[in-house]
Amino acid sequence: MADPIALPPTGPGAPTPPIEIRGGAAGASAHLGEMVPVPDPVIDRLRKTGAGVSTDHAVRAEASRDWWPGAMIWATEGEVPGLAGVVVSPTDAEQVAAVLRLCNAARVPVTAAGGRSGVCGASVPAFGGVVLDTTALAGVVSIDEESMILDVAPGTFGDHLEAELRAKGLTVGHWPQSVALSTVGGWVACRGAGQLSNKYGKIEDMVVGLDVVLADGSAITTGGGPRSAVGPDLTQVFVGSEGTLGIITGVRLRLHPAPQAQRHAAYGFDSFAAANEACRRIVQRGLPPAVLRVYDAIEADRSYQTGDRAVLLVMDEGDPIVVDAAMAITEEVCAGAEALDVDLVDRWLAHRNEVSALEALIAKGYVVDTMEISAPWSRLEDIYTATTGALRAVPGTLAASAHQSHAYSDGACLYFTFAAKVDEDGEGTAARDRTYAQLWDVGQRAVLAAGGTLSHHHGVGLNRSRFTAEALGASHAVLQSVKDALDPNGILNPGKLGLRSPFGEVAYP
Ligand SMILES: Cc1cc2nc3c(=O)[nH]c(=O)nc-3n(C[C@H](O)[C@H](O)[C@H](O)COP(=O)(O)OP(=O)(O)OC[C@H]3O[C@@H](n4cnc5c(N)ncnc54)[C@H](O)[C@@H]3O)c2cc1C
Repeated sequence: MADPIALPPTGPGAPTPPIEIRGGAAGASAHLGEMVPVPDPVIDRLRKTGAGVSTDHAVRAEASRDWWPGAMIWATEGEVPGLAGVVVSPTDAEQVAAVLRLCNAARVPVTAAGGRSGVCGASVPAFGGVVLDTTALAGVVSIDEESMILDVAPGTFGDHLEAELRAKGLTVGHWPQSVALSTVGGWVACRGAGQLSNKYGKIEDMVVGLDVVLADGSAITTGGGPRSAVGPDLTQVFVGSEGTLGIITGVRLRLHPAPQAQRHAAYGFDSFAAANEACRRIVQRGLPPAVLRVYDAIEADRSYQTGDRAVLLVMDEGDPIVVDAAMAITEEVCAGAEALDVDLVDRWLAHRNEVSALEALIAKGYVVDTMEISAPWSRLEDIYTATTGALRAVPGTLAASAHQSHAYSDGACLYFTFAAKVDEDGEGTAARDRTYAQLWDVGQRAVLAAGGTLSHHHGVGLNRSRFTAEALGASHAVLQSVKDALDPNGILNPGKLGLRSPFGEVAYP
Protein backbone atom coordinates (compact mmCIF):
# COMPACT_ATOMS: atom_id res chain seq x y z
CA MET A 1 0.00 0.00 0.00
CA ALA A 2 1.29 3.47 -0.88
CA ASP A 3 0.75 6.48 1.34
CA PRO A 4 -2.04 8.65 -0.11
CA ILE A 5 -0.83 11.98 -1.50
CA ALA A 6 -2.06 15.15 0.18
CA LEU A 7 -5.65 16.03 -0.70
CA PRO A 8 -6.19 19.45 -2.25
CA PRO A 9 -8.52 21.76 -0.35
CA THR A 10 -12.23 21.14 -0.91
CA GLY A 11 -13.61 23.35 -3.65
CA PRO A 12 -12.86 23.79 -7.34
CA GLY A 13 -9.24 22.66 -7.49
CA ALA A 14 -8.61 23.05 -11.22
CA PRO A 15 -6.33 25.80 -12.51
CA THR A 16 -8.21 28.70 -14.14
CA PRO A 17 -8.21 28.77 -17.97
CA PRO A 18 -5.78 31.37 -19.27
CA ILE A 19 -8.18 33.95 -20.75
CA GLU A 20 -9.70 36.07 -18.02
CA ILE A 21 -13.45 36.66 -18.04
CA ARG A 22 -13.89 40.28 -19.07
CA GLY A 23 -15.28 42.24 -16.13
CA GLY A 24 -14.45 39.37 -13.72
CA ALA A 25 -16.03 36.02 -12.90
CA ALA A 26 -18.41 37.56 -10.34
CA GLY A 27 -20.36 39.28 -13.12
CA ALA A 28 -20.18 36.56 -15.78
CA SER A 29 -23.33 35.57 -17.66
CA ALA A 30 -24.23 32.39 -19.57
CA HIS A 31 -23.71 32.54 -23.35
CA LEU A 32 -26.07 29.58 -23.88
CA GLY A 33 -29.09 31.38 -22.37
CA GLU A 34 -31.60 30.07 -19.77
CA MET A 35 -30.15 27.66 -17.21
CA VAL A 36 -31.97 25.00 -15.14
CA PRO A 37 -32.25 26.41 -11.60
CA VAL A 38 -31.25 24.36 -8.55
CA PRO A 39 -34.06 24.82 -5.97
CA ASP A 40 -32.97 26.01 -2.50
CA PRO A 41 -34.25 22.86 -0.73
CA VAL A 42 -32.05 20.77 -3.05
CA ILE A 43 -29.04 22.95 -2.19
CA ASP A 44 -29.78 22.48 1.52
CA ARG A 45 -29.89 18.71 1.07
CA LEU A 46 -26.68 18.77 -1.01
CA ARG A 47 -24.96 20.45 1.96
CA LYS A 48 -26.14 17.62 4.19
CA THR A 49 -24.27 15.03 2.06
CA GLY A 50 -21.00 16.30 3.59
CA ALA A 51 -19.62 17.38 0.20
CA GLY A 52 -18.25 20.90 -0.23
CA VAL A 53 -20.95 23.19 -1.68
CA SER A 54 -20.52 26.66 -3.17
CA THR A 55 -23.15 29.01 -4.58
CA ASP A 56 -20.76 31.95 -4.94
CA HIS A 57 -21.22 33.49 -8.41
CA ALA A 58 -17.49 33.78 -9.21
CA VAL A 59 -16.81 30.19 -8.08
CA ARG A 60 -19.74 28.92 -10.19
CA ALA A 61 -18.60 30.88 -13.25
CA GLU A 62 -15.00 29.62 -13.10
CA ALA A 63 -16.17 26.03 -12.50
CA SER A 64 -18.42 26.34 -15.57
CA ARG A 65 -15.67 26.82 -18.17
CA ASP A 66 -12.72 24.90 -19.53
CA TRP A 67 -10.00 25.37 -22.18
CA TRP A 68 -12.35 25.21 -25.19
CA PRO A 69 -11.03 27.95 -27.50
CA GLY A 70 -14.55 28.66 -28.82
CA ALA A 71 -15.70 29.63 -25.33
CA MET A 72 -12.53 31.64 -24.72
CA ILE A 73 -13.84 34.02 -27.39
CA TRP A 74 -16.97 34.46 -25.22
CA ALA A 75 -14.82 35.08 -22.12
CA THR A 76 -13.44 38.18 -23.85
CA GLU A 77 -17.06 39.48 -23.72
CA GLY A 78 -17.68 38.55 -20.06
CA GLU A 79 -19.49 35.26 -20.74
CA VAL A 80 -19.06 31.63 -19.73
CA PRO A 81 -20.76 28.92 -21.86
CA GLY A 82 -23.33 27.71 -19.28
CA LEU A 83 -23.53 28.72 -15.63
CA ALA A 84 -23.86 26.13 -12.85
CA GLY A 85 -26.33 26.89 -10.06
CA VAL A 86 -24.08 25.22 -7.51
CA VAL A 87 -20.60 23.63 -7.37
CA VAL A 88 -20.40 20.43 -5.31
CA SER A 89 -17.05 18.92 -4.28
CA PRO A 90 -17.38 15.40 -2.82
CA THR A 91 -14.49 13.77 -0.99
CA ASP A 92 -15.56 10.14 -1.34
CA ALA A 93 -17.72 7.84 -3.50
CA GLU A 94 -20.53 7.74 -0.92
CA GLN A 95 -20.92 11.52 -1.19
CA VAL A 96 -20.95 11.23 -5.01
CA ALA A 97 -23.75 8.64 -4.71
CA ALA A 98 -25.75 10.83 -2.34
CA VAL A 99 -25.41 13.85 -4.67
CA LEU A 100 -26.56 11.82 -7.68
CA ARG A 101 -29.54 10.31 -5.81
CA LEU A 102 -30.70 13.81 -4.88
CA CYS A 103 -30.20 15.31 -8.34
CA ASN A 104 -31.81 12.34 -10.08
CA ALA A 105 -34.92 12.66 -7.91
CA ALA A 106 -35.06 16.44 -8.45
CA ARG A 107 -34.21 16.19 -12.21
CA VAL A 108 -31.21 18.54 -11.82
CA PRO A 109 -28.40 18.25 -14.42
CA VAL A 110 -25.01 17.07 -13.08
CA THR A 111 -21.82 17.71 -15.02
CA ALA A 112 -18.54 16.21 -13.79
CA ALA A 113 -15.51 18.50 -13.95
CA GLY A 114 -11.93 17.37 -13.27
CA GLY A 115 -9.02 19.57 -14.33
CA ARG A 116 -11.32 21.42 -16.77
CA SER A 117 -8.51 21.21 -19.32
CA GLY A 118 -10.85 19.79 -21.96
CA VAL A 119 -10.62 21.71 -25.24
CA CYS A 120 -14.11 20.92 -26.58
CA GLY A 121 -16.34 22.18 -23.77
CA ALA A 122 -17.02 18.68 -22.39
CA SER A 123 -17.13 19.76 -18.73
CA VAL A 124 -19.19 22.91 -19.24
CA PRO A 125 -22.69 22.65 -17.74
CA ALA A 126 -24.67 23.39 -20.91
CA PHE A 127 -27.95 23.61 -18.94
CA GLY A 128 -26.56 24.76 -15.57
CA GLY A 129 -27.49 22.67 -12.52
CA VAL A 130 -24.67 21.06 -10.52
CA VAL A 131 -21.01 21.04 -11.47
CA LEU A 132 -19.57 18.03 -9.66
CA ASP A 133 -15.92 18.95 -9.05
CA THR A 134 -13.91 15.72 -8.74
CA THR A 135 -10.61 17.26 -7.65
CA ALA A 136 -11.09 16.50 -3.94
CA LEU A 137 -11.33 12.78 -4.84
CA ALA A 138 -7.55 12.61 -5.10
CA GLY A 139 -4.64 10.35 -4.27
CA VAL A 140 -3.08 6.94 -4.85
CA VAL A 141 -5.22 4.27 -3.17
CA SER A 142 -2.85 1.30 -3.61
CA ILE A 143 -0.10 -0.15 -5.78
CA ASP A 144 0.21 -3.87 -6.55
CA GLU A 145 3.89 -3.94 -7.53
CA GLU A 146 3.82 -7.64 -8.42
CA SER A 147 0.93 -7.30 -10.89
CA MET A 148 1.98 -3.71 -11.73
CA ILE A 149 -1.51 -2.28 -11.16
CA LEU A 150 -2.26 1.15 -9.71
CA ASP A 151 -5.52 2.04 -7.96
CA VAL A 152 -5.96 5.82 -8.04
CA ALA A 153 -8.73 8.32 -7.25
CA PRO A 154 -10.16 10.11 -10.33
CA GLY A 155 -9.41 13.71 -9.34
CA THR A 156 -5.64 13.13 -9.08
CA PHE A 157 -3.68 15.49 -11.33
CA GLY A 158 -1.20 13.85 -13.73
CA ASP A 159 1.95 15.60 -12.53
CA HIS A 160 1.21 14.74 -8.88
CA LEU A 161 0.63 11.11 -9.83
CA GLU A 162 3.81 10.72 -11.90
CA ALA A 163 5.93 12.42 -9.22
CA GLU A 164 4.71 9.93 -6.64
CA LEU A 165 5.17 6.95 -8.97
CA ARG A 166 8.67 8.01 -10.11
CA ALA A 167 9.77 8.12 -6.48
CA LYS A 168 8.96 4.39 -6.41
CA GLY A 169 10.67 3.64 -9.75
CA LEU A 170 7.34 3.34 -11.59
CA THR A 171 5.37 5.15 -14.31
CA VAL A 172 1.95 5.00 -15.94
CA GLY A 173 3.51 6.45 -19.10
CA HIS A 174 0.53 8.75 -19.84
CA TRP A 175 1.96 12.18 -20.70
CA PRO A 176 -0.64 14.44 -22.33
CA GLN A 177 0.68 17.92 -23.02
CA SER A 178 -1.80 18.95 -20.31
CA VAL A 179 -0.36 16.52 -17.71
CA ALA A 180 -0.31 19.22 -14.99
CA LEU A 181 -3.81 20.50 -15.90
CA SER A 182 -5.73 17.25 -16.21
CA THR A 183 -6.93 14.44 -13.93
CA VAL A 184 -6.97 10.66 -14.24
CA GLY A 185 -10.80 10.67 -14.42
CA GLY A 186 -10.68 13.23 -17.24
CA TRP A 187 -8.14 11.10 -19.17
CA VAL A 188 -10.46 8.09 -18.95
CA ALA A 189 -13.67 10.05 -19.64
CA CYS A 190 -12.15 11.63 -22.80
CA ARG A 191 -10.21 8.57 -24.15
CA GLY A 192 -7.04 10.64 -23.96
CA ALA A 193 -3.61 10.07 -25.49
CA GLY A 194 -0.21 10.87 -24.03
CA GLN A 195 2.82 11.97 -26.03
CA LEU A 196 4.48 8.55 -25.49
CA SER A 197 1.44 6.59 -26.67
CA ASN A 198 3.34 4.54 -29.26
CA LYS A 199 4.96 2.68 -26.36
CA TYR A 200 2.50 2.86 -23.48
CA GLY A 201 -0.76 3.01 -25.47
CA LYS A 202 -3.72 5.37 -25.14
CA ILE A 203 -5.63 5.52 -21.87
CA GLU A 204 -8.03 2.78 -23.10
CA ASP A 205 -5.00 0.44 -23.32
CA MET A 206 -3.90 1.36 -19.79
CA VAL A 207 -7.15 1.07 -17.85
CA VAL A 208 -7.98 -2.33 -16.36
CA GLY A 209 -10.99 -1.43 -14.23
CA LEU A 210 -13.18 1.35 -12.88
CA ASP A 211 -15.49 2.23 -10.00
CA VAL A 212 -18.49 4.14 -11.31
CA VAL A 213 -21.51 5.73 -9.61
CA LEU A 214 -24.55 5.65 -11.89
CA ALA A 215 -27.19 8.36 -12.20
CA ASP A 216 -29.48 6.74 -9.60
CA GLY A 217 -26.64 6.62 -7.06
CA SER A 218 -25.88 2.90 -7.40
CA ALA A 219 -22.20 1.96 -7.51
CA ILE A 220 -20.55 -0.60 -9.80
CA THR A 221 -17.03 -1.95 -10.30
CA THR A 222 -15.80 -3.06 -13.73
CA GLY A 223 -12.78 -5.17 -14.67
CA GLY A 224 -10.91 -7.21 -12.10
CA GLY A 225 -9.18 -9.96 -14.06
CA PRO A 226 -6.65 -9.68 -16.87
CA ARG A 227 -8.31 -10.26 -20.28
CA SER A 228 -11.41 -11.81 -18.73
CA ALA A 229 -13.99 -13.34 -21.09
CA VAL A 230 -17.14 -12.72 -19.08
CA GLY A 231 -19.26 -10.86 -21.59
CA PRO A 232 -18.31 -7.51 -23.18
CA ASP A 233 -15.72 -5.31 -21.44
CA LEU A 234 -17.92 -2.91 -19.45
CA THR A 235 -14.89 -0.79 -18.50
CA GLN A 236 -14.77 0.40 -22.10
CA VAL A 237 -18.43 1.53 -21.96
CA PHE A 238 -17.31 4.30 -19.62
CA VAL A 239 -13.97 5.08 -21.32
CA GLY A 240 -14.81 8.05 -23.56
CA SER A 241 -18.31 8.51 -22.09
CA GLU A 242 -17.45 12.12 -21.12
CA GLY A 243 -19.51 12.13 -17.93
CA THR A 244 -22.74 11.16 -19.72
CA LEU A 245 -23.10 7.59 -18.37
CA GLY A 246 -21.75 7.72 -14.81
CA ILE A 247 -19.27 9.37 -12.47
CA ILE A 248 -15.91 7.58 -12.27
CA THR A 249 -14.83 7.31 -8.62
CA GLY A 250 -11.91 4.88 -8.91
CA VAL A 251 -9.45 3.91 -11.66
CA ARG A 252 -7.11 0.92 -12.02
CA LEU A 253 -4.23 1.48 -14.46
CA ARG A 254 -1.34 -0.66 -15.71
CA LEU A 255 2.11 0.33 -14.42
CA HIS A 256 5.57 0.10 -16.00
CA PRO A 257 9.10 0.35 -14.60
CA ALA A 258 10.42 3.92 -14.83
CA PRO A 259 12.59 4.12 -17.98
CA GLN A 260 16.32 3.41 -17.62
CA ALA A 261 17.43 4.56 -21.07
CA GLN A 262 16.41 7.28 -23.54
CA ARG A 263 17.56 7.81 -27.15
CA HIS A 264 16.74 10.43 -29.80
CA ALA A 265 16.89 10.81 -33.60
CA ALA A 266 15.57 13.29 -36.20
CA TYR A 267 15.12 13.00 -39.98
CA GLY A 268 14.15 15.31 -42.84
CA PHE A 269 11.93 14.19 -45.76
CA ASP A 270 10.84 15.75 -49.06
CA SER A 271 7.16 15.55 -48.17
CA PHE A 272 4.70 14.91 -45.31
CA ALA A 273 3.59 11.76 -47.18
CA ALA A 274 7.17 10.39 -47.33
CA ALA A 275 7.71 11.03 -43.60
CA ASN A 276 4.42 9.33 -42.74
CA GLU A 277 5.33 6.38 -44.95
CA ALA A 278 8.57 5.93 -42.97
CA CYS A 279 6.59 6.16 -39.74
CA ARG A 280 4.13 3.50 -40.96
CA ARG A 281 6.98 1.13 -41.85
CA ILE A 282 8.63 1.61 -38.45
CA VAL A 283 5.40 0.96 -36.55
CA GLN A 284 4.47 -2.07 -38.64
CA ARG A 285 7.85 -3.68 -37.85
CA GLY A 286 6.30 -4.21 -34.39
CA LEU A 287 8.53 -2.30 -31.93
CA PRO A 288 7.83 1.43 -32.33
CA PRO A 289 9.78 4.02 -30.33
CA ALA A 290 7.66 5.83 -27.71
CA VAL A 291 7.52 9.05 -29.75
CA LEU A 292 7.31 9.38 -33.54
CA ARG A 293 6.24 12.91 -34.47
CA VAL A 294 5.85 13.83 -38.14
CA TYR A 295 5.48 17.56 -38.93
CA ASP A 296 4.44 18.95 -42.28
CA ALA A 297 6.85 21.54 -43.70
CA ILE A 298 4.78 24.48 -42.35
CA GLU A 299 4.85 23.27 -38.75
CA ALA A 300 8.44 21.97 -38.97
CA ASP A 301 9.70 25.30 -40.22
CA ARG A 302 7.61 27.23 -37.66
CA SER A 303 9.07 25.24 -34.75
CA TYR A 304 12.46 24.05 -36.01
CA GLN A 305 13.41 26.32 -38.95
CA THR A 306 13.90 23.37 -41.32
CA GLY A 307 12.74 25.09 -44.54
CA ASP A 308 10.59 23.06 -46.93
CA ARG A 309 11.27 19.66 -45.38
CA ALA A 310 8.84 17.51 -43.44
CA VAL A 311 10.43 16.35 -40.20
CA LEU A 312 10.26 13.13 -38.16
CA LEU A 313 11.29 13.39 -34.49
CA VAL A 314 12.02 10.13 -32.69
CA MET A 315 12.40 9.46 -28.98
CA ASP A 316 12.40 6.14 -27.22
CA GLU A 317 12.70 5.25 -23.55
CA GLY A 318 12.56 2.14 -21.41
CA ASP A 319 14.65 -1.01 -21.10
CA PRO A 320 18.02 -0.31 -22.84
CA ILE A 321 17.89 -3.53 -24.91
CA VAL A 322 14.40 -2.72 -26.19
CA VAL A 323 15.30 0.91 -26.87
CA ASP A 324 18.39 -0.09 -28.90
CA ALA A 325 16.31 -2.49 -30.98
CA ALA A 326 13.57 0.09 -31.64
CA MET A 327 16.13 2.73 -32.65
CA ALA A 328 17.98 0.24 -34.91
CA ILE A 329 14.73 -0.48 -36.78
CA THR A 330 14.09 3.26 -37.09
CA GLU A 331 17.60 3.92 -38.45
CA GLU A 332 17.20 1.13 -41.00
CA VAL A 333 13.83 2.41 -42.24
CA CYS A 334 15.09 6.03 -42.40
CA ALA A 335 18.42 5.17 -44.10
CA GLY A 336 17.43 7.15 -47.23
CA ALA A 337 16.25 10.25 -45.32
CA GLU A 338 18.35 13.23 -44.28
CA ALA A 339 19.68 12.82 -40.72
CA LEU A 340 18.94 16.03 -38.79
CA ASP A 341 20.47 17.37 -35.58
CA VAL A 342 19.09 15.43 -32.59
CA ASP A 343 18.95 18.76 -30.73
CA LEU A 344 15.55 19.16 -32.43
CA VAL A 345 14.25 16.43 -30.10
CA ASP A 346 15.73 18.22 -27.08
CA ARG A 347 13.93 21.39 -28.22
CA TRP A 348 10.65 19.49 -28.46
CA LEU A 349 11.19 17.92 -25.01
CA ALA A 350 11.98 21.33 -23.48
CA HIS A 351 8.76 22.89 -24.77
CA ARG A 352 6.38 19.91 -24.91
CA ASN A 353 4.20 20.96 -21.98
CA GLU A 354 3.93 24.66 -22.83
CA VAL A 355 0.29 25.60 -23.11
CA SER A 356 0.19 29.31 -23.88
CA ALA A 357 0.41 29.61 -27.70
CA LEU A 358 -3.27 29.47 -28.73
CA GLU A 359 -4.53 31.58 -25.84
CA ALA A 360 -2.18 34.44 -26.68
CA LEU A 361 -3.62 34.57 -30.21
CA ILE A 362 -7.25 34.40 -28.97
CA ALA A 363 -6.55 37.33 -26.65
CA LYS A 364 -5.38 39.31 -29.71
CA GLY A 365 -8.65 38.65 -31.54
CA TYR A 366 -7.63 35.71 -33.75
CA VAL A 367 -9.82 32.66 -34.30
CA VAL A 368 -7.58 29.68 -33.58
CA ASP A 369 -7.91 26.03 -32.63
CA THR A 370 -6.61 22.51 -33.19
CA MET A 371 -8.49 19.46 -34.49
CA GLU A 372 -7.19 15.91 -33.98
CA ILE A 373 -8.61 12.96 -35.86
CA SER A 374 -7.52 9.44 -36.74
CA ALA A 375 -7.60 7.44 -39.94
CA PRO A 376 -6.25 4.28 -41.54
CA TRP A 377 -2.83 4.78 -43.21
CA SER A 378 -4.46 4.36 -46.62
CA ARG A 379 -6.63 7.49 -46.04
CA LEU A 380 -4.13 9.72 -44.26
CA GLU A 381 -2.67 11.73 -47.16
CA ASP A 382 -6.09 12.32 -48.80
CA ILE A 383 -7.46 13.56 -45.47
CA TYR A 384 -4.48 15.85 -44.96
CA THR A 385 -4.87 17.40 -48.42
CA ALA A 386 -8.69 17.68 -48.34
CA THR A 387 -8.85 19.09 -44.80
CA THR A 388 -6.09 21.68 -45.03
CA GLY A 389 -7.63 22.72 -48.38
CA ALA A 390 -11.14 23.05 -46.91
CA LEU A 391 -9.85 25.08 -43.94
CA ARG A 392 -7.83 27.43 -46.17
CA ALA A 393 -10.93 28.09 -48.31
CA VAL A 394 -12.78 29.68 -45.37
CA PRO A 395 -12.60 33.51 -45.72
CA GLY A 396 -10.15 34.99 -43.23
CA THR A 397 -8.07 31.84 -42.79
CA LEU A 398 -4.38 32.66 -42.40
CA ALA A 399 -2.94 29.19 -41.83
CA ALA A 400 -3.84 25.49 -41.79
CA SER A 401 -1.22 22.85 -41.08
CA ALA A 402 -0.82 19.43 -39.44
CA HIS A 403 1.41 16.99 -37.67
CA GLN A 404 1.05 13.27 -36.99
CA SER A 405 1.87 12.29 -33.43
CA HIS A 406 0.28 8.94 -32.51
CA ALA A 407 0.84 5.96 -34.80
CA TYR A 408 -0.54 2.41 -34.81
CA SER A 409 -0.12 -0.58 -37.09
CA ASP A 410 -3.43 0.29 -38.80
CA GLY A 411 -3.34 4.08 -38.90
CA ALA A 412 -2.49 7.30 -37.13
CA CYS A 413 -3.69 10.57 -35.64
CA LEU A 414 -3.52 13.79 -37.66
CA TYR A 415 -3.48 16.96 -35.56
CA PHE A 416 -4.52 20.06 -37.54
CA THR A 417 -3.88 23.64 -36.40
CA PHE A 418 -5.75 26.56 -37.99
CA ALA A 419 -5.92 30.32 -37.50
CA ALA A 420 -8.08 33.06 -38.99
CA LYS A 421 -8.59 36.81 -38.58
CA VAL A 422 -12.01 38.27 -39.33
CA ASP A 423 -13.27 41.80 -39.71
CA GLU A 424 -15.55 42.31 -36.69
CA ASP A 425 -17.60 45.12 -38.29
CA GLY A 426 -18.74 46.27 -34.85
CA GLU A 427 -20.48 42.92 -34.24
CA GLY A 428 -18.51 42.00 -31.11
CA THR A 429 -17.68 38.32 -31.10
CA ALA A 430 -20.48 37.28 -33.51
CA ALA A 431 -18.25 37.39 -36.61
CA ARG A 432 -15.52 35.42 -34.83
CA ASP A 433 -18.10 32.87 -33.60
CA ARG A 434 -19.38 32.34 -37.15
CA THR A 435 -15.92 31.83 -38.60
CA TYR A 436 -14.98 29.51 -35.72
CA ALA A 437 -18.08 27.32 -36.31
CA GLN A 438 -17.54 27.39 -40.09
CA LEU A 439 -13.92 26.22 -39.74
CA TRP A 440 -15.05 23.28 -37.61
CA ASP A 441 -17.93 22.48 -40.01
CA VAL A 442 -15.73 22.31 -43.11
CA GLY A 443 -12.79 20.70 -41.31
CA GLN A 444 -14.73 17.87 -39.67
CA ARG A 445 -16.85 17.19 -42.74
CA ALA A 446 -13.75 17.00 -44.95
CA VAL A 447 -12.27 14.45 -42.51
CA LEU A 448 -15.46 12.35 -42.37
CA ALA A 449 -15.96 12.45 -46.16
CA ALA A 450 -12.38 11.26 -46.74
CA GLY A 451 -12.68 8.32 -44.31
CA GLY A 452 -11.38 9.65 -40.97
CA THR A 453 -12.91 9.66 -37.48
CA LEU A 454 -14.26 12.70 -35.63
CA SER A 455 -11.69 12.69 -32.82
CA HIS A 456 -8.58 10.79 -31.72
CA HIS A 457 -8.14 12.03 -28.13
CA HIS A 458 -9.73 15.41 -27.35
CA GLY A 459 -13.20 13.86 -27.43
CA VAL A 460 -16.53 15.38 -28.44
CA GLY A 461 -17.65 17.86 -25.79
CA LEU A 462 -20.05 20.57 -26.80
CA ASN A 463 -18.05 21.68 -29.82
CA ARG A 464 -18.31 18.39 -31.70
CA SER A 465 -21.67 17.23 -30.37
CA ARG A 466 -23.41 18.25 -33.62
CA PHE A 467 -21.26 15.84 -35.67
CA THR A 468 -21.57 12.76 -33.45
CA ALA A 469 -24.62 11.11 -35.04
CA GLU A 470 -23.10 11.70 -38.49
CA ALA A 471 -19.79 10.17 -37.39
CA LEU A 472 -21.26 7.10 -35.68
CA GLY A 473 -24.03 6.40 -38.20
CA ALA A 474 -26.57 3.78 -37.11
CA SER A 475 -24.53 2.92 -33.99
CA HIS A 476 -25.38 6.31 -32.50
CA ALA A 477 -28.82 4.82 -31.72
CA VAL A 478 -27.08 2.11 -29.67
CA LEU A 479 -25.21 4.78 -27.71
CA GLN A 480 -28.56 6.51 -27.09
CA SER A 481 -30.02 3.19 -25.83
CA VAL A 482 -27.10 2.77 -23.41
CA LYS A 483 -27.67 6.35 -22.21
CA ASP A 484 -31.41 5.73 -21.75
CA ALA A 485 -30.73 2.54 -19.78
CA LEU A 486 -28.06 3.99 -17.45
CA ASP A 487 -29.44 7.52 -17.06
CA PRO A 488 -33.17 7.41 -17.85
CA ASN A 489 -33.78 10.95 -16.57
CA GLY A 490 -30.91 12.32 -18.65
CA ILE A 491 -29.30 14.24 -15.77
CA LEU A 492 -25.65 13.38 -16.55
CA ASN A 493 -23.87 16.01 -18.65
CA PRO A 494 -26.88 16.80 -20.87
CA GLY A 495 -26.24 18.32 -24.30
CA LYS A 496 -23.15 16.24 -25.12
CA LEU A 497 -22.24 13.40 -27.51
CA GLY A 498 -25.27 14.32 -29.66
CA LEU A 499 -27.55 12.55 -27.14
CA ARG A 500 -31.17 13.58 -26.48
CA SER A 501 -31.60 15.94 -23.54
CA PRO A 502 -34.75 16.36 -21.44
CA PHE A 503 -33.68 19.98 -20.87
CA GLY A 504 -34.00 20.90 -24.58
CA GLU A 505 -31.56 21.58 -27.41
CA VAL A 506 -28.23 23.24 -26.68
CA ALA A 507 -28.07 26.64 -28.32
CA TYR A 508 -24.74 25.93 -30.06
CA PRO A 509 -23.53 26.81 -32.63
C1 LIG B 1 -2.79 22.83 -23.47
C2 LIG B 1 -3.56 21.56 -23.55
C3 LIG B 1 -2.95 20.42 -24.06
C4 LIG B 1 -3.65 19.21 -24.13
N1 LIG B 1 -3.00 18.10 -24.56
C5 LIG B 1 -3.65 16.91 -24.57
C6 LIG B 1 -2.95 15.72 -24.94
O1 LIG B 1 -1.75 15.71 -25.22
N2 LIG B 1 -3.66 14.56 -24.94
C7 LIG B 1 -4.97 14.50 -24.58
O2 LIG B 1 -5.56 13.42 -24.59
N3 LIG B 1 -5.64 15.63 -24.25
C8 LIG B 1 -5.02 16.81 -24.21
N4 LIG B 1 -5.69 17.95 -23.83
C9 LIG B 1 -7.12 17.88 -23.51
C10 LIG B 1 -7.43 17.57 -22.03
O3 LIG B 1 -6.34 17.85 -21.21
C11 LIG B 1 -7.83 16.11 -21.90
O4 LIG B 1 -9.05 15.89 -22.56
C12 LIG B 1 -7.96 15.61 -20.46
O5 LIG B 1 -8.09 14.21 -20.47
C13 LIG B 1 -9.11 16.24 -19.70
O6 LIG B 1 -8.96 15.94 -18.33
P1 LIG B 1 -9.60 16.89 -17.23
O7 LIG B 1 -9.35 16.28 -15.90
O8 LIG B 1 -9.14 18.27 -17.41
O9 LIG B 1 -11.13 16.74 -17.60
P2 LIG B 1 -12.26 17.87 -17.71
O10 LIG B 1 -11.92 18.83 -18.79
O11 LIG B 1 -12.58 18.40 -16.38
O12 LIG B 1 -13.50 16.97 -18.19
C14 LIG B 1 -13.49 16.38 -19.46
C15 LIG B 1 -14.69 15.43 -19.59
O13 LIG B 1 -14.53 14.35 -18.69
C16 LIG B 1 -15.64 14.26 -17.80
N5 LIG B 1 -15.11 13.83 -16.51
C17 LIG B 1 -14.06 14.34 -15.84
N6 LIG B 1 -13.86 13.64 -14.70
C18 LIG B 1 -14.82 12.67 -14.68
C19 LIG B 1 -15.16 11.62 -13.76
N7 LIG B 1 -14.47 11.41 -12.65
N8 LIG B 1 -16.21 10.84 -14.07
C20 LIG B 1 -16.91 11.02 -15.20
N9 LIG B 1 -16.65 11.98 -16.09
C21 LIG B 1 -15.61 12.79 -15.83
C22 LIG B 1 -16.25 15.66 -17.79
O14 LIG B 1 -17.63 15.60 -17.48
C23 LIG B 1 -16.03 16.08 -19.21
O15 LIG B 1 -17.04 15.53 -20.03
C24 LIG B 1 -5.01 19.17 -23.73
C25 LIG B 1 -5.60 20.30 -23.21
C26 LIG B 1 -4.90 21.48 -23.11
C27 LIG B 1 -5.56 22.69 -22.52
